[in-house]
Amino acid sequence: DIVESFTIGAREVCDLTYYYIKAMENGLADDSATESSTESTTKSESEAAEEKLARSRHRLPMIPTYVFDKPDGTEQGIVLAADLGGTNFRVCSVELNGDHTFKLNQQKSKIPEDLLEDDGVTSEQLFAFLAKKISLFVNTYHGDETESSSTSSSTTTPSSTVKENVDPETQEALTSTNQKTLKLGFTFSFPVDQTALNRGTLIRWTKGFKIKDCVGKDVVELLQTELQKIKDPTTQKVKVVALSNDTVGTFLSGCYSSLNGSTSAVGDISEPVIGCIIGTGFNMAYMEEIKNIKKLGPQLLQKYEQEGKVYMGINTESGSFDNDLVKLPTTKYDTIIDTQISPNPGFHLFEKRISGMFMGELLRVILVDLNGRDLIFHDYKPGKKNLPHRLTTPFELSSELLSHIEIDDSTDLRETELNLLQSLRLPTTLHDRVMIQKLVRAISKRSAYLSIVPMAAIIIKTGALKKKYHGEVEVVCDGSVVEYYPGYKSMQRDALAMSPLGPSGERKIHLKIAKDGSGLGAGLCALVA
Ligand code: BGC
Ligand code: MG
Repeated sequence: DIVESFTIGAREVCDLTYYYIKAMENGLADDSATESSTESTTKSESEAAEEKLARSRHRLPMIPTYVFDKPDGTEQGIVLAADLGGTNFRVCSVELNGDHTFKLNQQKSKIPEDLLEDDGVTSEQLFAFLAKKISLFVNTYHGDETESSSTSSSTTTPSSTVKENVDPETQEALTSTNQKTLKLGFTFSFPVDQTALNRGTLIRWTKGFKIKDCVGKDVVELLQTELQKIKDPTTQKVKVVALSNDTVGTFLSGCYSSLNGSTSAVGDISEPVIGCIIGTGFNMAYMEEIKNIKKLGPQLLQKYEQEGKVYMGINTESGSFDNDLVKLPTTKYDTIIDTQISPNPGFHLFEKRISGMFMGELLRVILVDLNGRDLIFHDYKPGKKNLPHRLTTPFELSSELLSHIEIDDSTDLRETELNLLQSLRLPTTLHDRVMIQKLVRAISKRSAYLSIVPMAAIIIKTGALKKKYHGEVEVVCDGSVVEYYPGYKSMQRDALAMSPLGPSGERKIHLKIAKDGSGLGAGLCALVA
């Protein structure tokens, strides 16, 4: 039965964790070394290129980020950050107070559907849109505060205030005439082949994006070019100085905010080790010892050693774990979503079993299948009365809907009935709803159980729990699922206890939510750039 096929036990959790560790090691290995040792000279160039492509598809990307240091909370300054993630584009100014707190002004805009949907869209169009939003944002600092009504501002201090207008101090600092450039950190939450802190080419899109000509291009350059086309003096000052993944930003923000080590935090001995996103997408980042990142090549390894650099942030791109399905549990619904619905078939298969973009889609695909077999919604007969349009349209069933059904304990699941009527125009019987709630809980539980695999793997690989006496670790998390899905973190805790870390390891892991993490993190990157 379907619920059964979504169930994951301790055995799978442990198997997957060890396999993830192996995947990390493979992903860090030196590409050229493997090539020369395994390839005979008889292979043609195109064959070799094809093999390389296949390897890159099956490998965990393990992307070097050129971030070497963890912030300690004393960083100070004002920088800009821009964040292109799943559904929104955010522009922020971040003011770091140097005492673990910060102030953030931000403007959020939804990415227009046509930039996501239409296959004819060019990267220039997308980045022109981003540049325009950045330009609007920096120009709201030019005195005319009446135009900044959609900007919100907040601080991380307990006495948090939300203001509608841009803070005059921030405004002055950003526009003061002696400031020649406005540094901007760009959070770009897709796999990027990064070659420097401010350079990286898009490997492939994930989540909902499809713009083909963007693949292979340097996204910092694309953004800078479009910014330069906007001729007003403030926009001309904006310089994109750092490129960062949202997981890396979240990790850095956790380090900045952590009171670990400061005198005000007696007894707090936990330390951020992982940046984790579970929202539209899914991913984790951590600091790896540079000497293990063999694919940097002997020259860079030696250079960094001479410079005394020990650690570098690695964006693991967890979503692409086990793309060849050696260990990943697979139901027929996972296959339907990957091959028939998702824009990137064959890739990010792990993400498709976990992230918010796919939780609702899984339920939708199951329900349509069950109806086709006359097992649910008996008023709708295949070939006679069609299912409501929304239920047959991909991505119309949101993970937010699942979160309501998950915790519905009303009589006869009345709330679920209302929710389904409202969002999908779908009438249900009690029998339907009982089945739906079981499915919802199976989907979310599998998501939560799988989501801790990279976490456990990174903690084991880095030996993080063994580094200090009674050492505790923080996993700094952001994203709608981990933040809002009811019971998600408890399910993650259950799974961590089943992982090779066991119950004693589980107790030492703090899942900490970092609000505005990637904005602050990109700001921190820009600041050190
Ligand atoms: C992307 C990652 C990103 C994650 C969370 C994934 O689809 O590949 O780069 O960190 O989503 O936003
Ligand atoms: Mg995000």
